[in-house]
Amino acid sequence: MALWICQACGVEYPETTEPPAECPICLDERQYVPVSGQAWTSLEKLSADGYAVEARKVETGLFAITNSPKVGIGQQSLLVQTPEGNLLWDPTGFVDETGAQLVRELGGAAAIVASHPHMFGAQVSWSKALGGAPVLVAEADLGWIQRDDRAIRSWSGDLEILPGVTLSTVGGHFPGSAIAHWAAGANGQGVLLAGDTIGPAPDGKWVSFMRSFPNKIPLSAAVVDRVANASTRRPFDRLYGNFGGTIDTHASVVVRRSADRHMAWVRGDFDHLT
Ligand SMILES: [Zn+2]
Ligand SMILES: [Zn+2]
Repeated sequence: MALWICQACGVEYPETTEPPAECPICLDERQYVPVSGQAWTSLEKLSADGYAVEARKVETGLFAITNSPKVGIGQQSLLVQTPEGNLLWDPTGFVDETGAQLVRELGGAAAIVASHPHMFGAQVSWSKALGGAPVLVAEADLGWIQRDDRAIRSWSGDLEILPGVTLSTVGGHFPGSAIAHWAAGANGQGVLLAGDTIGPAPDGKWVSFMRSFPNKIPLSAAVVDRVANASTRRPFDRLYGNFGGTIDTHASVVVRRSADRHMAWVRGDFDHLT
């Protein structure tokens, strides 16, 4: 028996003797099965191969939790610390006892939430390693769960999961794509954990909104407008994507400006430049 992990996306599967036939998350048009084909690893194998969990302080009250080497898509998980408990956001595809201990020393997790199914990672294993912390999955994306567990709870809309930490489903990339607003972040100016609902550009001055980042599938003007409006209802100055990209300052303005640019392009305003 092994806990199988899809090598391409890093999402965990139920404990079985043989690996699953396929990964529905990778077969979907928003992700991909590598040219080399579907491949599987397991928590046990990753552990034996020396994979580890690392923690790095990003700002006061916020830690980046990563796997070394990277697993699957290789997301950067974020741990938001509050006096009432922590949020583990976009959990990585690997956790072991040493990694869980690292997070326990930072206060553990009161809740585990992935921004969308690509970021489910080893969410149930993380929950079990952290004393059964609830795993919240957006109602609209419940069908993407691969490893079910009694720790999983469904949610939708706006949910203040911890005082000053509010989850919102804003859609776009997935119908249940979520953001987390952390009011105390960025020295009280507010932080948005955006997953890849909103993707920071390399220059830190723009963001993008996509149905699929690897396959470059766009979203319509109406959807991008909706996502930008829903994401900027609460004030924030800084934005974190799920791969270490950030918009360090004026991030709310950047989201609006970038949405306006996207809308103008898909509307055809700049067709004379092509
Ligand atoms: Zn996969
Ligand atoms: Zn994604």
